[in-house]
Amino acid sequence: MSRDNDIKETIEELKSYFKQQKELGIEYYYLNQLNEAMIEEKENLVKSVAEKEPSENTHQMNLLDSATKKMTLEEISDEIGDCTRCKLHEGRTNIVFGEGNANARLVFVGEGPGRDEDEQGKPFVGRAGKLLTKIIHAMGLQRTDVFICNVVKCRPPDNRNPEADEMTTCGQFLTKQLISIEPEVIVCLGSIASKYLLNSKASLGSLRGKFHPYMNSKLLVTYHPAALLRNPNYKKPLWEDMKLVLEELELPIPGD
Ligand code: URA
Repeated sequence: MSRDNDIKETIEELKSYFKQQKELGIEYYYLNQLNEAMIEEKENLVKSVAEKEPSENTHQMNLLDSATKKMTLEEISDEIGDCTRCKLHEGRTNIVFGEGNANARLVFVGEGPGRDEDEQGKPFVGRAGKLLTKIIHAMGLQRTDVFICNVVKCRPPDNRNPEADEMTTCGQFLTKQLISIEPEVIVCLGSIASKYLLNSKASLGSLRGKFHPYMNSKLLVTYHPAALLRNPNYKKPLWEDMKLVLEELELPIPGD
């Protein structure tokens, strides 16, 4: 069999394998979930495809890259582009990609932009955002020390919860952001982001108080700052959660 046929056959095998996995509900692969044989197969395939003319191999390289490559935040933003992948694009003013330190040890994930965020193109800049900024300062940190983003990058109409299809479509970019930053700790703000990232139906209360493994990071669930604005009783438990984060990062706990 010719080398070209070998390549085609391997690509078809990979395609049908990933299609089957998708049917089983598996949406993403992370590099550390690929076993050695698959990595070797991918590397050989990349090598043989790379030897071909660029015009022939672009699509094949893209297929491979999207499964395994660690991208920079800039590349992820470029890939999102002027996105129309889901219906949320219809009402947006700006895509809210997220902002902060590309090498952050700590990432905060909310559910999706509100009106202020949509207007400014920045995450957590409205009332709840100002409270998040205060929490970050109370931890002895600045917004520029951490990375702040959301599951969906466009504002849901009337601030409704993002829908499952919107989170699945946009969530691939959150996954890529988290692969890129590889933080030590991820803090999920509120039940929407928490249930989405942990793929869980459990209540926020039952997910709180312990770290959950998430790729190479530790994920902690806490209340959304908007919930604190409605109910100040959440302030104390949220601060307990932030102390767990500081302990995990071996950072001093201000006021202790
Ligand atoms: N609420 C969120 O979940 N994200 C934001 O960016 C702002 C408010």
